[in-house]
Amino acid sequence: MDKEAIQQAVRQIILAIGEDPAREGLADTPRRIADMYEELFSGLADDPRQLLEVGFDAEDHHEMVVVTDIPFYSLCEHHFLPMHGHAHIGYIPNGRILGVSKVARLLEMLARRPQVQERLTSQVADFLCQGGLGARGAGVVIEAEHLCMTARGVKKPGSRVVTSATRGIFRDDPRTRAEFFAIVEGRR
Ligand SMILES: [Zn+2]
Repeated sequence: MDKEAIQQAVRQIILAIGEDPAREGLADTPRRIADMYEELFSGLADDPRQLLEVGFDAEDHHEMVVVTDIPFYSLCEHHFLPMHGHAHIGYIPNGRILGVSKVARLLEMLARRPQVQERLTSQVADFLCQGGLGARGAGVVIEAEHLCMTARGVKKPGSRVVTSATRGIFRDDPRTRAEFFAIVEGRR
């Protein structure tokens, strides 16, 4: 990531809004924002498939695994303002399990890039069921507050956006689907 270019750009923004980039409170702001973007966009350099290298086999486990209330922070790609909330992620393994901490890490990798909530939801489900883990099915529910909606614009404080995605038997089998959403509803 070109942090020097980020600093230059932030200095330009400070000037463009009519502020003084040399003012004490603002002098270090370009550097702080460059450091912050390096962290918040670190997922751009991550490939979730690296999580599979240490995944372990669990041939006997064919039951649903649901990890609920996973907190996450991301930046909406339209405004670069935070969207933050919780995710509930379930899947039914097909001979391979992803540990609980790696499920959370998957979400973090995909959240730490310019995002929209719908795509984040789909990408987690796709990774679990298709390209990555190859689970028999996956379900993802994300509920988040978007500061671009609650702190500006339409200003609806406390409003949250809920998105869901299902893949494989979570989409095709009504009982599996109902079981997953019942677990999630119990948490919301
Ligand atoms: Zn936004």
